[in-house]
Amino acid sequence: MTDVVVRAIATDNLVCRNSARYPAIELPKLAVYLVGKPASIDHPSAFRGTVKDEWGNITAAGVEKAEPPTDLDDHNKLIVQKEGYHYVWTDITCDVAVEHIEAFKKDLRRRVSIAAMYQFMRCPGCTCGEDVFSEKCPNYFWELPYFERCGVVDALEISLVSTPAVRVARVVSIDGVNL
Ligand SMILES: [Zn+2]
Repeated sequence: MTDVVVRAIATDNLVCRNSARYPAIELPKLAVYLVGKPASIDHPSAFRGTVKDEWGNITAAGVEKAEPPTDLDDHNKLIVQKEGYHYVWTDITCDVAVEHIEAFKKDLRRRVSIAAMYQFMRCPGCTCGEDVFSEKCPNYFWELPYFERCGVVDALEISLVSTPAVRVARVVSIDGVNL
């Protein structure tokens, strides 16, 4: 058995396709919780997929400050102005014989998504310190341009998916060789 290390960008601090984001301050917690968790497909944590779908383990993760994507909308431009652009990378260790490895080399199945747990959904720049559904929050959830996931308490897994919420989330290299 020969191991390879697949590096994937797991998430970032931008507003993603489902109108949510993790503030930069939450990303180091996500990195800590992701280590030791499985790499799977199609989010078994959402009750799809099974343990048979597990193809690797996250053996390292961290946060990196980087140049932001160039096609940002106004909300994301403002976020980058305020806190910079940061992403979470994960190193997934797996057997070289895993079928996904060949797919990655053909530019297939490279998009990924993480599942994580957090305590609060908050409005952008929230000052009430409460969940957006709390009576104490002056904002109305359905009128918000996006919401923030705050108080990360766990991460469950990383999955290969067809359409990740986070636009940049994908497999980027195998054993340090960029795809
Ligand atoms: Zn609020």
